[in-house]
Amino acid sequence: MTTTRFAPSPTGYIHVGNLRTALFNYLIARKAGGQFILRLDDTDPERSSEAYADAIKEDLEWLGLTWDRVEKQSDRLERYEAAAQELRDMGRFYECFETPTELDLKRKKQLNMGKPPVYDRSALALSDKEKAALRVERAGHWRFLLDQSRIEWTDGILGELSIDAASVSDPVLIRGDGQFLYTLASVCDDVDFGITDVVRGSDHVTNTATQIQIIEALGGTVPSFAHHSLLTGPQGEALSKRLGTLALRDLREQGVEPMALLSLMARLGSSDPIELRSSMDELVEGFDLSKFGAAPTKFDVQDLFPLTARINAARSFDSVKERIAKLGVPGELAEQFWAVTRENITVLDDLNAWWTLFSEGAEPVIAEEDAEFVAEAMALLPDGPYDSETWGKWTAEVKAATGRKGRGLFMPLRKALTGQSHGPDMGAVLPLLQVIRAKG
Ligand code: GLU
Repeated sequence: MTTTRFAPSPTGYIHVGNLRTALFNYLIARKAGGQFILRLDDTDPERSSEAYADAIKEDLEWLGLTWDRVEKQSDRLERYEAAAQELRDMGRFYECFETPTELDLKRKKQLNMGKPPVYDRSALALSDKEKAALRVERAGHWRFLLDQSRIEWTDGILGELSIDAASVSDPVLIRGDGQFLYTLASVCDDVDFGITDVVRGSDHVTNTATQIQIIEALGGTVPSFAHHSLLTGPQGEALSKRLGTLALRDLREQGVEPMALLSLMARLGSSDPIELRSSMDELVEGFDLSKFGAAPTKFDVQDLFPLTARINAARSFDSVKERIAKLGVPGELAEQFWAVTRENITVLDDLNAWWTLFSEGAEPVIAEEDAEFVAEAMALLPDGPYDSETWGKWTAEVKAATGRKGRGLFMPLRKALTGQSHGPDMGAVLPLLQVIRAKG
């Protein structure tokens, strides 16, 4: 059975970059009728928190990316210890004692000599006696002994990949303080949970190479790997520093609609056009990983707003009824208020400004050359309440009295009544206007 996972570390809020990974894995599982696992990579107790784990769940739920089960790495430490022991027993795991400063120095030397900064394996030469002596000073960390051959796989997005293991440092799997690192935990989980497909960012390509060897050493089945490109800003600039401002909860806060975000992210960077979808089923249906390319993918948060506006314009009155009532719109005006505003908002919060305008009246905008005309027109405006006929009747009268017509007639009146030069049909606006400030 196709089984995928989304494996965030609960050390912060998830952002659009994470969403791309989550969504691809979700869509693959759903398309195949398989399983989607939410895995919390929380082996770092200092940086992980329950609050972030809850926030991640909340954000995924908001988008409708529901998981079939949750797993937590912190629950599985015994399993990782057993795997570590297995690796020790087969001679693929060795203890090292270099301090971070020593390692840094080694790397600098190698770079100075024009060599790749690969760990030199000097710990392999330590005798038992030397190790025992070193252990008194500091706790050792543990590295996986890579087999220095080429590691090859067919990547679901990048195609044929081949990495020379000799160009990669033996990965540290257990830190000096005993903490299991992501690589070992991830490999054990992927094997034990029967993960068949792993999609993640292209920053994980080297991890994948080493993980393939560890999976093989542990006798597991290597999943299919695919690495999607990383997101950049609209001008191709790195997004890594700004991702913090593109947290899913911030987008939600700004009024972005889930389907707008999903429709964009499920196609961005693929050869398919971006089209607004109305359901998850449609997104699942049209998803094809092979259509995604290796090039960095430009993401512009502004693209979410036209899509959001379209979703909002298509909403039923029922879905906004409560929100409109909360604004203070009287029940008998509510449906009409929605009819007039729905095409003139981007996010639902824009309704607030419309109701302020209708209920309090707008600061009139009157050009000097129109002042006399507007005053004359206002004198002809009957007292409210107004209905759908009022605007037509009134402007006909104004036309007859002043001789103005077309734009010269309508635009100054729109600006005087709404303070804006564009907006909904004035015939529909007038009945909603509770106060007309231009009347003085
Ligand atoms: N916790 C890892 C990360 O967020 C998971 C990577 C993976 O998908 O294996 O980068």
